[in-house]
Amino acid sequence: MTQSFDDKGFATRAVRAGQIRTQEGEHAEPIFPTSSYVFESAEQAAARFSGDEPGNIYSRFTNPTVRTFEQRLATLEGGESAVATSSGMSAILSTFMALLSAGDHIVSSRSIFGTTRVLFDKYLAKFGLETDYVDLIDIEDWQRAIKPNTKALFLETPSNPMNEIADLAALSALAKANDCLLIVDNCFCTPALQQPLALGADIVVHSATKYIDGQGRCVGGAVVGDAQLVGQEVYGFLRTAGPTMSPFNAWTFLKGLETLDLRMKAHSASALALATWLEQQPQVTNVFYAGLPSHPQHELAKKQQSAFSGLIAFEVKGGKEGAWKLVNATQWLSITANLGDTKTTITHPATTTHGRLTQEARDEAGISDGLLRISVGLENVEDIQADLQHGFDLIQ
Ligand SMILES: *Cc1c(COP(=O)(O)O)cnc(C)c1O
Repeated sequence: MTQSFDDKGFATRAVRAGQIRTQEGEHAEPIFPTSSYVFESAEQAAARFSGDEPGNIYSRFTNPTVRTFEQRLATLEGGESAVATSSGMSAILSTFMALLSAGDHIVSSRSIFGTTRVLFDKYLAKFGLETDYVDLIDIEDWQRAIKPNTKALFLETPSNPMNEIADLAALSALAKANDCLLIVDNCFCTPALQQPLALGADIVVHSATKYIDGQGRCVGGAVVGDAQLVGQEVYGFLRTAGPTMSPFNAWTFLKGLETLDLRMKAHSASALALATWLEQQPQVTNVFYAGLPSHPQHELAKKQQSAFSGLIAFEVKGGKEGAWKLVNATQWLSITANLGDTKTTITHPATTTHGRLTQEARDEAGISDGLLRISVGLENVEDIQADLQHGFDLIQ
């Protein structure tokens, strides 16, 4: 039977919550690679299918390993229910398919993951969901965009790559006053650093692919919230449409949760040290990291996050040429757009993640040609500095 750890501390819940120990007495959580389950009798089969008896039926919607991950993540986010999904994108898709209807309106921050924007504009739009975009940190902009049919406010905070911070308590008050849901993609902080539900959000979505795995192995996602919205409605969509997490991936992610608290503190400490060092480099014109006292929303970030996560953006002299020189001079930093890994990654947003935007859209988002983004991993921070120094030596 599962024991409740709800009254225990975060780290304890991250290691212990949701585990079911079988009669084999295994210490680590088992993986259940089975698509279906057997029943003891025709009566039991009927009772399971009718919902009169709880229990496993079919792994599109009931799997013990996946359930362990869901219960563990739910308690860490402070939600009643979590539903695990095959990817971060399917977590977002499932949330909107389950909770909104044709004719509804979404207000979203402009500074969201590019593929989420494609999902809104190209696919949800086909089914009658309309999305308008606003400035993440301008509460009046949010207010102005709300219409009578607005059903959801959607955002990521901190934003990627510029590290802007949304005021979650203020947006939650706005959502409540207008009878809409506040949906927060908590990918960059994870519950180890920020718990949006406690600040008034209704739903948290995750790309577990990033920090929850934390080691660059699996693609997955999750939706967390109350028992009705998530436990019934999002679960109902998942059960029917099937963007399910595999038991193997669920096991990887629940092992990721066990070290999440330690890793997020370490990513944050290294990122703060690196951002502080970057600010002192003569070739760097600007550093965007909410942990720096120079960041315009440093106080807000301190209030709603326990640390500042591992993503840093910074601008170098020399525009695109300077930025590419720096990237190409590194000897072992990973040149990839992925983030939230033990391995430090470096990317040039203007020609990769934001390369398909118009120049005007890039300007509006603050993505200049000299901007670089680093996802600080868990290597020694002096070694990361030394690898960047190879590039700085070339862009005097
Ligand atoms: C990566 C990412 C997603 C999408 O997640 P996948 O697991 O790649 O589908 C969504 N939101 C944010 C903020 C992300 O970084």
